[in-house]
Amino acid sequence: MINVVKVGGSANIQDEYLLDELAERVLAAEKFVLVHGGSDETNDIARQLGHPPRFVTSVSGFESRYTDRRTMEIFSMVYCGRRNKSIVEGLQQRGVNAVGLSGIDGRIFEGAMKGSLKIIEDGKKKVLRGDYSGKIQKVNTELLLLLLEQGFFPVLTPPAIDADTSAMMNVDGDRAAAELAKALRSDYLLILSTVPGLLRDLAVDHSSPENLIREIDLSDTNNPYESAEGRMKKKIMGAAEAIEGGVGRVILSTANIERPIAHALAGAGTHIFSSPVLEQAV
Ligand code: ADP
Repeated sequence: MINVVKVGGSANIQDEYLLDELAERVLAAEKFVLVHGGSDETNDIARQLGHPPRFVTSVSGFESRYTDRRTMEIFSMVYCGRRNKSIVEGLQQRGVNAVGLSGIDGRIFEGAMKGSLKIIEDGKKKVLRGDYSGKIQKVNTELLLLLLEQGFFPVLTPPAIDADTSAMMNVDGDRAAAELAKALRSDYLLILSTVPGLLRDLAVDHSSPENLIREIDLSDTNNPYESAEGRMKKKIMGAAEAIEGGVGRVILSTANIERPIAHALAGAGTHIFSSPVLEQAV
């Protein structure tokens, strides 16, 4: 069984705890693929390079980044460069033979580029062309399986590759991790970030147990995800896609704690699943 761990890329994420635990588990022959983000640092570097991020609101109400070619290049510098290599370095220092890859290497994450974004700006609908973002349609796991069989530990990051043009494209890291967990038929997908899970109210104390939504059963139609905003929306969407695709359980939990995997598996965070529909007795 190969499970997937996704670690976020927000400024106050602490990687050390996760790297310690992953090293311990991988050295004890557990198999994982680690997927990571890098959005906050990408925004910082983009500003420093004089090409600040442009966030837009899609007609369907999602906030997303407009990824022109220059942004795509800066994105790849940070995700495939600094962030990926600092994780690989940290794992190598812990005795794990980690290999850093992006979704374009070996065409691991293949999909379709949108090309343009339909947005709402100043109350008007507009079309923004030259957008290098898209959706993953296929995960090619061969390279990952080859590496895992040979004892390497894959550390994977967006971007993905456009199937038609082979251009790199920006994809959401949480949804990429969800597609990967589906393709690997994982028991679980852990999405670790700086928040304890899905909170009822982001403005209320994050450490208060009553503020945490402990479970989301997708077979229950009254689901409390209205509180999800911004990047949390994508995590919930990714989680639902993973569960619909056969992954046993998705857990949203914090990375900033000792043994974050054990912590999540022991019940911390928000557990998302779909309980089997009970057969009605005839
Ligand atoms: P990543 O780096 O993986 O993209 P983030 O830390 O940005 O992860 O994603 C989680 C963010 O989602 C939190 O920092 C928080 O600001 C935001 N968020 C929005 N709504 C909620 C909610 N209801 N519960 C928890 N976090 C939320």
